[in-house]
Amino acid sequence: MTDLDIHSACILLVDDDPGTIQVLHRALGPFSNVRFATSGALALKLAEELQPDLILLDADMPGMSGIETFWKLKSDSLLQATPVIFVTSRRETDLEVEVLELGAVDFISKPVNPALLRARVGTQLRLKLLTDELRSAAGHDGLTGIANRRQFDEWIDAECRRALRGGTPLSLLLADVDHFKAYNDCAGHLAGDDALRKVALVLQNETRRAGELTARYGGEEFAIVLPGLDGEAARQRAEEVRSLIEARAIPHPRSSVGPVVTLSIGVSTLHLAADATPVDSSAARALIQHADNALYLAKKEGRNRVRYETCSYPFGSWTRQTA
Ligand SMILES: [Mg+2]
Repeated sequence: MTDLDIHSACILLVDDDPGTIQVLHRALGPFSNVRFATSGALALKLAEELQPDLILLDADMPGMSGIETFWKLKSDSLLQATPVIFVTSRRETDLEVEVLELGAVDFISKPVNPALLRARVGTQLRLKLLTDELRSAAGHDGLTGIANRRQFDEWIDAECRRALRGGTPLSLLLADVDHFKAYNDCAGHLAGDDALRKVALVLQNETRRAGELTARYGGEEFAIVLPGLDGEAARQRAEEVRSLIEARAIPHPRSSVGPVVTLSIGVSTLHLAADATPVDSSAARALIQHADNALYLAKKEGRNRVRYETCSYPFGSWTRQTA
């Protein structure tokens, strides 16, 4: 287990009373990354911007109350997992029970005891950072270190929804290492693993723009999600990826294509109809299916090449273009 650096974690203090904020800040002396908001509205804005690791929230504020602020945080998909500790001068057990039942992680009474505050904040930060680590590990492939199938599935679903909202295209590359079984049979599985790691590294370095993701889809297959790219631009990116792998010149002991490791790549682009409402994962499935069809063609037509299909959702109509 790596050391959890709780003292650099970002804490957001929310209280309408600047005096209270000062007291809390002083009590949190060892924590170096503490930010403040004096209203619920400001807290939401800052939270969105900072993505804090912990929020200390005053239950009693004029305007947007603590409870209301809490609900808004919980309805934001990027902030709903952020732990919130309520801080209040009210003494009713009812309130304490209510906020804990709503999903707050703790409840602290004012006036705060500094040592107790630090201890409880420390406990929640340790849990938060540990959860982050576990979540991150669960989304990564053990062999190559890039995103795994699970993270890919969530990612492509989210990007389909984003594409729908923004009316933008979304492209997917499915890439398969040519004759990988022969590689393993000939060079051994350890060498095969090593080749996969090298391929993954090249692909990972190639996809660094916002929203892009390289994942190990399974075995010797990789998936690359390219938001905002239409068919032609995606096909060009695929061609770049293909030639980069070839240029990396990882020796292949037994391939009909040539002496180095090569990729066959299938590309698909999803054009969402204006009235498309993918409440399920069928848009993502359609995109994957068409990329898979294109990949099959790329292999059938001799490997180390790019083929693509575009498809429309929800009509499922598609055109095959072999460039
Ligand atoms: Mg207050």
